Amino acid sequence: MQQTREIFHQEVEESLFYNVTKGGPRGSSRSYSAFGLSRMPCEVKPRFLVLYGSQKGQAQSIAEGITDEAEEKGLVAEICCLSEVDKFNLEKECAPVVFIVSTTGDGEPPDNALKFVKSIKKKTLSCDHYAHLCYAFLALGDTNYANFCNCGKTIDGRLQELGAKHFYATGYADDGVGLELVLDSWLEGLWEAIRRALSMMAVPQPKSDITDMRALSKGALESATDVNLHLLSLNDPEPESTACLGKAAESESAKTVPEITTLDINASETGSTVTDLRPVSVTDNTETSHNLSRVLTDQKSVLTAQSGVPAVVEASLTLSFPPLSESALNIPALPPPYLDVMWLEPNTQEETSVPVSRESFQEVPISRSVRLTSDDSVKTALMVELDISAHPMAYQPGDSLDVLCPNRVSEVAELLLRLGLKDQANHRICLSLQIDTKKKAAQVPSYIPENCTVQYLFTWCLEIRSVPKKAFVRSLVECTRDGGEKRRLQELCSKQGSADYNLYVRDPKLDLLDLLRAFPSCQPPLTLVIEHLPRLQPRPYSAASSRLRHPGHLHFVFNIIEFPACTGRPEGRRGLCTGWLSDLVNPILLHPGKVQFFSTLSIPQVHVSLRQNSSFRLPSDLSKPLIMIGPGTGVAPFIGFLQQREKEREENPEVVFGETWLFFGCRHRDRDYLFREELQGFVGIGTLTHLKVCFSRDSLEGPDTQTGPRYVQHNLLLHAKDIANLLLRENGYLYVCGDAKNMAKDVNDTLMEIVAAELQLDKLDAMKTLARLREEKRYLQDIWS
Ligand code: FAD
Repeated sequence: MQQTREIFHQEVEESLFYNVTKGGPRGSSRSYSAFGLSRMPCEVKPRFLVLYGSQKGQAQSIAEGITDEAEEKGLVAEICCLSEVDKFNLEKECAPVVFIVSTTGDGEPPDNALKFVKSIKKKTLSCDHYAHLCYAFLALGDTNYANFCNCGKTIDGRLQELGAKHFYATGYADDGVGLELVLDSWLEGLWEAIRRALSMMAVPQPKSDITDMRALSKGALESATDVNLHLLSLNDPEPESTACLGKAAESESAKTVPEITTLDINASETGSTVTDLRPVSVTDNTETSHNLSRVLTDQKSVLTAQSGVPAVVEASLTLSFPPLSESALNIPALPPPYLDVMWLEPNTQEETSVPVSRESFQEVPISRSVRLTSDDSVKTALMVELDISAHPMAYQPGDSLDVLCPNRVSEVAELLLRLGLKDQANHRICLSLQIDTKKKAAQVPSYIPENCTVQYLFTWCLEIRSVPKKAFVRSLVECTRDGGEKRRLQELCSKQGSADYNLYVRDPKLDLLDLLRAFPSCQPPLTLVIEHLPRLQPRPYSAASSRLRHPGHLHFVFNIIEFPACTGRPEGRRGLCTGWLSDLVNPILLHPGKVQFFSTLSIPQVHVSLRQNSSFRLPSDLSKPLIMIGPGTGVAPFIGFLQQREKEREENPEVVFGETWLFFGCRHRDRDYLFREELQGFVGIGTLTHLKVCFSRDSLEGPDTQTGPRYVQHNLLLHAKDIANLLLRENGYLYVCGDAKNMAKDVNDTLMEIVAAELQLDKLDAMKTLARLREEKRYLQDIWS
C-alpha cells in the first residue's frame, strides 16, 4: 500500500505567531487585568466568543476566519455554532460576543440558528435578561431578496430588547453586490472594538449594574469606529468611517514599514501583515520568469513592444500600476492550514459515478424533455419530466427540487493536470486534521466521503467554479514561486488592492482554474484546495406540475445559462447545472413540431431531493383570489398551481372559486412564450380567469414602436384597480416568481405605487401595507438570481 503524506507548509508566517500559551478555559476572561494584548508574554490571553448561524457555510467561514485571526492578535476566540447550545451559555457570558449570522430563503434563519432564534423570542424573558452581554453583530444577506438580513436583524433587535449592548456597530453585508464591500471594513474595525470592549469589561460587571453597562457600551460605541454599513451599494461613495479606517491603516503602514524591499512584519495594531514588496528586484532570489509590470510608472503606460510599435498597456488581472504596484500592502493573515491527506492505493474497481455522500438524494429517470423555445430564441428553455413513480415524492405546487450536478469533465481534467494530480486521479485519499493546526474548530469536511478518489472529489464534492475568496488568494501567495506573480496575488488580497480584486476576480466571477492559468508558477497543494473550495451545491428548480394532473411525474423548467467570455476568461461557458442538464437530455430532447427518431434507448438519470416550501402554496380557502406574476421560467410554479386548481374545480363543482390572474412576460410571442397552449387552455376552461401577457421585444424590433406594456409591472399598472381590489379588499394572495435582480424589485415598486395610489397613502405607509401582506403570507416570493 502506497502511503504518502502531503503537508502544507506554513513558511514565513510561521514566525509571526506569538509564542504564548493558549488561553484559559471559558469564563477566564476576568483574570486579565493589564491589557497588554499582543506583545506581552502573558500566560492567559483575553478571550471572546464567536457565534455563527450559517446555511451555506459563508457565515461559518467568516466566523472561522475571525477565530483564526484572533490568535495572531494575542486573543483567544472560542467559536460555536448557534445550534451548539451545550457549548456556550449567553446567560453567563462575560466576554465580548461576536455574532455572524446569515439569512436564507424568504428572510428565514439558517437551519442551525432556528432553535436559538426561538429561544430568545420567549416572551417570559425579562428586559434585562442579557444586560450583562456586550456584542458585535455581522448580518449576511442578499438585497436581491425580500427581507434583507432579516434573521440578523431579528436576533440583533431581540438582543437589544433583552438589554444586551453593542460594542461595535452592526454590519450588513450584501451578497448581492459582494460581501467584501462591507465585510472588509467591518472586520478591520472589529479588532480595535474588541480590544476596547475587553479592556472595559475587564472590570467586573455585576449583572444588575445596567447603568454601568450602558455607559460602557455607549463609550465603546462612540470611541470605536462607527461603521455605518447598512445597505452600502456599489455606487455609494466610500463611507466616511471606512475612509477613516483606510487612512488609519495607511498611516499605520507608513509608520511601520521600513525602507527595505522584502519584509513581512506583523502589524500588531492593524492586525494584518504589512508587506513591502515594492518593485521586485531582479536580484530577488525568487524565480522571476514573469516580470509583470514592475517597471511601469503610470496608470496607463506606453511600452515599446518587441516590434517597436508603442502599445498602451492597461491594468489587468496580472498587471498593476502605481500607486498600487509600488504601495506597501496590508495583507490579511495567512489562514492556518488544517488538513493532511494520506494517499491510499489506486482504486481498482470502477469508480462509482453517484454522489455517495448525499443520502437524501434519489436517482430518478428522466422520462421526457421538451424544448420550449424556438431555435431563434435568445434564451433556450427546456422542460424536464422526471419519472418519480419508483420514488414517490409528496411534492406540492410551490415546492422545488434540488438537482445534483457534477463539475464538467473537461474542467476537472484541466484542474487535475494543473495541480499536478493527473496521474493520481484514480488514487483514493483519506483526509485528517493536522495535529498541531492553529485553526480553531477545524473539521474534516463532512461532505467528502472517506477513501474517495481524487477524481470523485473534484467531480462531486467541490464547487470548483466558486470565486476564490481573498483568504484563498492570500494562501496562494505562499505557493507561488515567481516574484512578480507573488506580488500581484498579494495585491489582490490586500486592502489596497481591494478594487482590483473586485474588478478582476469577483465581478467576472473567475475561478481557481482561471487564476492558475494567469499565475503559472502558483502550485497549490491538494489540501489547500480542499480547505478553501466550498461544497458543490445542488441547484434548486421549481416544480412545474401538479401530482394530481401528472401522477408519478414531476416537471421542471430551466433556461440554459450562458456566460460570455470576459477579461480573465477568454472563452464563454454555460451554467454548471443547466449546461450539464442540457447535455444529459439532448439525446431525448423533443422539438415540438418536428418529427424525431431517437437512436438511443439509454434513459438519462438524475439525482434529486425534494425541497418543500411551506409558504409558497395555494391558499386552503378556494374562494380567495390569486394574482400570479411569473415572467420567463418564473411561470413554472404557476403551471403547477393551475393544474392543481383545475383538478380541484373538477372535484368540487359546487364551490365558488376565487379569480385567478396570471401576469406572464417574454421577449417574443413566437419564440419564447412558454406553455402558451397550456395557458390558453386554462383560460378556455375557466381555470385561469385573466391571462395578461406582454412581449418586451416584439414591436421594438419591428417598424412600429412599442405602445403596449413591455414588462409584467407595466401590465400590473394597467390593471391597478383590479389588483388593489383583489389584494386589499378581497384578501387575495399575490405570488411572484423568477428573476430576483430586476423583475422582483420592479414588481415590488409597482405594487407600492398601486397601493399608495389606490389607498391614498404616502410611500412609507404603502411600504408598511406591503410588509403587512408579507407577514400575513399573502405577498409571497419565490425568486432567484
Ligand atoms: P451556475 O454555474 O451556478 O451559475 C449561476 C450563477 O452564477 C449566475 O446567476 C451568476 O450569478 C453566477 N455566475 C457563474 N459564472 C458566471 C460568469 N462567468 N459570469 C457571470 N456570472 C456568473 N432556475 C430556473 O431556470 N428555473 C427554476 O424553476 C428555478 N427555480 C429555482 C428555485 C429556487 C428556490 C432557487 C433558489 C433557484 C431557482 N432557479 C431556477 C435557479 C437555479 O437554481 C440555478 O441557479 C440556475 O439554473 C443556474 O444554475 P447553473 O448551475 O446552470 O449556473
